[in-house]
Amino acid sequence: MNVRLIFHGDLADMLNGLHRFPEPCRDLSRLAPVKDLVESRGVPHTEVGSIVSGNRNRSFQYIPHWGETLDIHPHKPPVDVSRPSLLFPEPFDRSAFVVDVNVARLASLLRLTGFDTLYDPHWGDAQIADVAGKDRRILLTRDKELLKRNRVLWGHLIRSQHPWEQLAEVIHFFGLKDRIELFTRCPKCNVPLVRTDKGDVIERLEPLTRLMYERFTRCPGCGQVYWSGSHHSRIREKLAAALVNLQ
Ligand SMILES: [Zn+2]
Repeated sequence: MNVRLIFHGDLADMLNGLHRFPEPCRDLSRLAPVKDLVESRGVPHTEVGSIVSGNRNRSFQYIPHWGETLDIHPHKPPVDVSRPSLLFPEPFDRSAFVVDVNVARLASLLRLTGFDTLYDPHWGDAQIADVAGKDRRILLTRDKELLKRNRVLWGHLIRSQHPWEQLAEVIHFFGLKDRIELFTRCPKCNVPLVRTDKGDVIERLEPLTRLMYERFTRCPGCGQVYWSGSHHSRIREKLAAALVNLQ
């Protein structure tokens, strides 16, 4: 007698040993909370949207009985982290992120679009998970093992390898399209930008910039001055192209 887990959607792609067991099922010969059973097969708990057996939704702490079959379903975007659910009972009051080194460029793009995103190339996995748990941030990574850490409450395994596609993936998954605030946060250090008078920064501007632009912002963290030049137009175009396929 076994416990059978059936993994639906793209959860099947995350299973360990896929080349040997192409079917999206796993028969298990031990009893444990379903969170442990799911993660032992390679799927981080953050990727699971619902667990169903006997027509009932189950929590991660549920211990199945021998002979039971459980259907493990992925999330259905958009995922709202401010709404508690059976699997994720601790809601977050904001969509703030922490990312690891494998998706570092994504951190800059999230900041460009106004989302509070922490990233430090010196942090190890334990520290990143600790920041995610303590500061109640959504962890974004391409590392399945990092998402399995107990400190991680909300997270998302990034599928794409391209930063702009990764940004679109996050915006789609967490339903953030209407909350984009372009050029309001420093892409280098994550600090919100403040409006500044032209007179206060004019000494630092190139002659052409002095002539052409009147509105400036400044980062209180690193002191960088920003204005709406041609680079802003390019970023707007890239963002529009990345989001074009989102509903
Ligand atoms: Zn800065």
